[in-house]
Amino acid sequence: MEKKNIDWSNLGFGYIPTEYRYVSNYKNGTWDEGALTTDSTVVINECAGVLQYAQTVFEGLKAYTTEDGRIVTFRPDLNAARLESSALRLEMPAFPQDRFVDAVTQLVKANAAYVPPYGSGATLYIRPYIFGTNPVIGVKPADEYQFRVFCTPVGPYFKGGVRPLTIRVCDFDRAAPHGTGHIKAGLNYAMSLHAIVTAHQEGYDENMYLDAATRTKVEETGGANFLFVTKDNKVVTPKSPTILPSITRRSLVHVAKEYLGLEVEEREIYVSELKDMAECGLCGTAAVISPVGKIVDHGTEICFPSGMSQMGPITKKLYDTLTGIQMGRLEAPEGWIHVIE
Ligand SMILES: *Cc1c(COP(=O)(O)O)cnc(C)c1O
Repeated sequence: MEKKNIDWSNLGFGYIPTEYRYVSNYKNGTWDEGALTTDSTVVINECAGVLQYAQTVFEGLKAYTTEDGRIVTFRPDLNAARLESSALRLEMPAFPQDRFVDAVTQLVKANAAYVPPYGSGATLYIRPYIFGTNPVIGVKPADEYQFRVFCTPVGPYFKGGVRPLTIRVCDFDRAAPHGTGHIKAGLNYAMSLHAIVTAHQEGYDENMYLDAATRTKVEETGGANFLFVTKDNKVVTPKSPTILPSITRRSLVHVAKEYLGLEVEEREIYVSELKDMAECGLCGTAAVISPVGKIVDHGTEICFPSGMSQMGPITKKLYDTLTGIQMGRLEAPEGWIHVIE
């Protein structure tokens, strides 16, 4: 298969259409058989549920080429399960989990020319989502939905080297107690836009959201979970019912325990403890881990000993081990690598 003529290493993170996308429609209580299509447009009624009441949920994962030349995705079964729980919370029909993995597989196969080569640092980002398509004006769930998956090649996350982030403790809340913080829904992102735009204006890379009830505990950023390392090399990550269960964070916890023999605590983390941490990182599909160098809490700077020019040593070990597993340089736990071709 002939690869597209793309400057993989210099790609950014933007939408570049590929040849195929996968579409299945839900009507009269069932999903149709679904198919690949070359049509990148969605035509829906002006009153569609997604447009009026934001009934939409999504996922994000990537396909890439391993050291031995296989095209794979990482733990897509967990994306399938999470999309289901997100959909059910918004009164949307779940897309069957085995069909989700099959749709992703078909899509990546069809767009294999867009899967970046091993070593380029680039990946093929895959975006599955479900949205309400039929007219809804009284507030209720839609009756008809579309499940769609498209993909777009994206460049290396740490282009030009690792740059630790500066984060502010945010005065806006991301998720209410008993709300929707634990699902991957567009609505959680719509309300985060003002917070991220103002953070950028003030020179911060990201927002650290606190628990809305007490505003004393660390939750997550707009799109990534936190991971900390204590001064005695324990990995600590926030436990909260209102954060999104990151697949990267869950994988890193396993890697920390089973590959690196580190002690891991998943527990509530108070803002007052941050000054005692040795390392801090953000976990998500895009970067795996982005190191955080500094957190600013209303004028008080918390600077991690790992500094502003590199990843902390434990963060680096976690990063190298998980990316090693993903790229096929290290043996993966059973079921983590889904081979496409
Ligand atoms: C997607 C997402 C993450 C990261 O999850 P991964 O499965 O690791 O990509 C973290 N927080 C939020 C709010 C997210 O939407």
